[in-house]
Amino acid sequence: MSILTRLLLALFSVALASANLPAKQPNILFVFSDDHAPQAISAYGSKINKTPNLDRIAKDGATFRNSFCANSICGPSRACILTGKHSHKNGFLRNGNRFDGTQTTFPKLMQDVGYQTAVIGKWHLSSDPTGFDHWEVLPGQGSYYNPDLIQMDGSRKRYEGYCTDIITDNSLAWLKARDPNKPFMLMCQHKAPHRNWSPPPRHYGLFEGVEIPEPETLFDDYSGRSDLLKENEMSIRDHFYWGHDMKFHGENLFPEHFRSGIRNGEYARMTDSQKQAWDDYYAPQNESFIRRMKAGELSDDDVTRWKYQRYIKTYLGCIQAVDDGVGRMLDYLDESGLAENTVVIYSSDQGFYLGEHGWYDKRWMFEESLKMPFLIRWPGVIEPETESAALVQNIDYGPTFLDLAGADIPAEMQGRSMVPMLRNQGKPSATWRDAIYYAYYENAAVHAVPVHDGVRTERYKLMFFPRSREWNLFDLEEDPMELQSVHDRASYAPILAGMQKRYRDLRQFYEVNSAVIPETRGDLDRWRTRDATITKNAKKGGADLAFIGDSITQGWEGRGKSVWDKYYGSRNAINLGIGGDRTEHVIWRLTHGNLGKIQPKVAVVMIGTNNTGHFDQDPKEVADGVERILEILQQRLPDTKIVLHGIFPRGPDSLDLKRLNNVAINQHIRRFADGDRVHYLEVGDQFLEPDGTISKAIMPDLLHLSTEGYERWAKALEPKLKELGL
Ligand code: CA
Repeated sequence: MSILTRLLLALFSVALASANLPAKQPNILFVFSDDHAPQAISAYGSKINKTPNLDRIAKDGATFRNSFCANSICGPSRACILTGKHSHKNGFLRNGNRFDGTQTTFPKLMQDVGYQTAVIGKWHLSSDPTGFDHWEVLPGQGSYYNPDLIQMDGSRKRYEGYCTDIITDNSLAWLKARDPNKPFMLMCQHKAPHRNWSPPPRHYGLFEGVEIPEPETLFDDYSGRSDLLKENEMSIRDHFYWGHDMKFHGENLFPEHFRSGIRNGEYARMTDSQKQAWDDYYAPQNESFIRRMKAGELSDDDVTRWKYQRYIKTYLGCIQAVDDGVGRMLDYLDESGLAENTVVIYSSDQGFYLGEHGWYDKRWMFEESLKMPFLIRWPGVIEPETESAALVQNIDYGPTFLDLAGADIPAEMQGRSMVPMLRNQGKPSATWRDAIYYAYYENAAVHAVPVHDGVRTERYKLMFFPRSREWNLFDLEEDPMELQSVHDRASYAPILAGMQKRYRDLRQFYEVNSAVIPETRGDLDRWRTRDATITKNAKKGGADLAFIGDSITQGWEGRGKSVWDKYYGSRNAINLGIGGDRTEHVIWRLTHGNLGKIQPKVAVVMIGTNNTGHFDQDPKEVADGVERILEILQQRLPDTKIVLHGIFPRGPDSLDLKRLNNVAINQHIRRFADGDRVHYLEVGDQFLEPDGTISKAIMPDLLHLSTEGYERWAKALEPKLKELGL
């Protein structure tokens, strides 16, 4: 920016500040990257790189230090931004989902108030973009070298060159070609610096001869926190591929240190001259490493350190190209006179581990991947070098953009507009949030990070791991690196209790009901095998009777086998029960193959006891899970009659708390009977003694049926099956 432009801008700012309103609807340039951690931005205090152009946004505007994602992974973060809602509300819970583009999103609402909208670059939501006048997006993750971009007519166009530069070029081209009489909202979305970090040739040597400082926790031993930390597969030491991550060619020479199997796909895309430039730079380094390894000069820790250097230098090289691109965009805004009425935002879909805890990748609720950069420049409104510690989240972006545009924010959006805070130099109002809610759903997926959720306040972070039913609590002031959970320390008992209350209340506020959120248990071999067997059997089709449920249903193959053979052996029946399942697992299974080609005349459903047995869940929430199962069956098996069983009694007597939960669930679900398709049938009294106790002859463990128990179940069910024509 020239001195004259700066001066004019400053004068303009004063004029605007006095009016405290932009002169007209501001343009919005939203530059967004992928996996760019705040600790690799100099405005956020990076110790490892310099980002002069990103810093221009911070210098002219505001840096939000407590900016967080709602679900730390690529697709879900984008869906949260577009919809202003948490993942469980927008339906994009995990990578591989398909975004429902008919939903309300902020770009659509901006079009309604006169904006031209465009998205160029990484999209990663599977369905085509909606709500954009112009779009051109990478397929899936896209490529760094010579990328293909999907055009609005569905065709693919290949560009020769480097992806970050091409996305910048195309964004600038759209800005120049758009209708200058309308305000614009441009989402310039980079693939960089996503794995497998492939920098442009001009930055290969950016850190030549430099030893990048290692994070203090590169050799974290994961003690003092949930044991689940040790299970994940995203460590620099153990989980880098020889070709894909570490950029070696050919056969893996040191399989004890590197994973084999994924080659460097970017190299394979390069032109001959690009390959030549790549090899000119990387080959000597690779040869030197191989030579030292063969000479036995490197210890295990040395190898980890070498991997860290290779990783971080390629990662930072990618970021430098993003920074270059941002510089070109900012220059264009200055030159074209657009700068003063354009709000510029820089963010990235989540943070990333740059060796902290020994990791790369994201997903965890720990600070490095929970945080997102959020830099914003709004000439005339936000004062230069503003700092904000307000707790903001990606669900706030949509409401904020709508507010900037003068559009109404729909009540269904869960985030809040940051505009009042932007007008108040980053200071939140007294009614701003005290805590954010976070949830990660990708069970049984790449990197093996467990499902977890939690809340973070200014000082504390509470995480819950459903699989191990475990809390972790961190005091971020005392332990900023999150090395020791204090959930079991007596001195933290009141803090744990308060945070647990906040957790429960926030889940209620955001309407998080895990009983209706589809979830796999595919991390368990036993479950995965059983699930695959059910799908295989269901693919054969032909069943007239299906039993859907948990271990009590699966038990037809155990203690109930002789009874099953007697009653159902000749009736073409199929068993869709899996021990330990809750409603959310059945929802997953029914939508992931378990119904195969079957179209039974009758389906017998009993589910929900594990929702209260393993997890202290509200009966109404469990009933919602059962209702969701009935909806899925209605959609997929519209001609099937359903026998919905009240959940069987359990526990020693009628005041057993878990039994009472089942009683309460049954009160809700009996209302799902519709007199036609869904038939509610409660047979629990068959298992009870006159005084309400349960005999161990019927339920040996006071939960699962004996052979005699199955006999009673079958007998009680039989009249209903006959009535339904079976
Ligand atoms: Ca990402």
